[in-house]
Amino acid sequence: MVEVRFLGSGNAFCPDGRMHSLVLLDGKILIDTPPTILLQLGQAGLSPADINTILFTHWHGDHIFGFPFFILERKYISDREGHNTLEVHLHEGGDKKLMELSEIAFPGSLTDVLENRVRFHHSKNGQVTGASDWVFERFKVNHEPATDPHGYQLHHTSGLTIIHCGDSGPCEEIEQRVGDAEIVIIEVGVPDGVPTDFHFKPSSLTELANNNPSTIFLATHLYTTKDESISDLPDNVIQVQDGDIFNCETGGIITKSN
Ligand SMILES: [Zn+2]
Ligand SMILES: [Zn+2]
Repeated sequence: MVEVRFLGSGNAFCPDGRMHSLVLLDGKILIDTPPTILLQLGQAGLSPADINTILFTHWHGDHIFGFPFFILERKYISDREGHNTLEVHLHEGGDKKLMELSEIAFPGSLTDVLENRVRFHHSKNGQVTGASDWVFERFKVNHEPATDPHGYQLHHTSGLTIIHCGDSGPCEEIEQRVGDAEIVIIEVGVPDGVPTDFHFKPSSLTELANNNPSTIFLATHLYTTKDESISDLPDNVIQVQDGDIFNCETGGIITKSN
């Protein structure tokens, strides 16, 4: 059994109080670090010290600006003794960006932690460090190129495959991979009519879901308010809310609690 927990489900604008999109896998792997990450973990009753691993998708502020706060909290509050090493998987060059960001946020305060208690991993595939029951493959997606956008295909030892598409518009990599996955976490940033290829929209998500009827799509990074939902999406698409927890088993059986 695998747990997929949404600590946030909104796009960069936090529509109507939705928190920035944030996924926690099995209580220990975070995908990205949005600006309000400490609030999001705290509201879920979790501590930054509980997190073993972070997988980064790309360098947009709504996905990374919480990193310095996360490290700062571990240093001074939840991991003062330095017992927990944080494993960070990211594309080459990302560690430099995170170090610069941390230095801008809290000059001089985080250097020792970043050097001694955080391990950066650049490999494109392999074991998820800090979570031995998962292996991953990182793949390029279609988003603002300056943000170096990627998604993750994650295989669990139980046989379950989950894909996190990152922040992306339609692209071949995603189209070719989603059929292999029971669960696909997909970010839907904008409504139809917004002139961009860098985000999935209701129409492109509908097409993808219809082409892959046995895959379940968990739609997040939403532009809709909490009370609104996008109408006429296929039955294999679930629009998530902040706090949703999905327990997933091989074969695509999922149960939801919130
Ligand atoms: Zn985003
Ligand atoms: Zn983005």
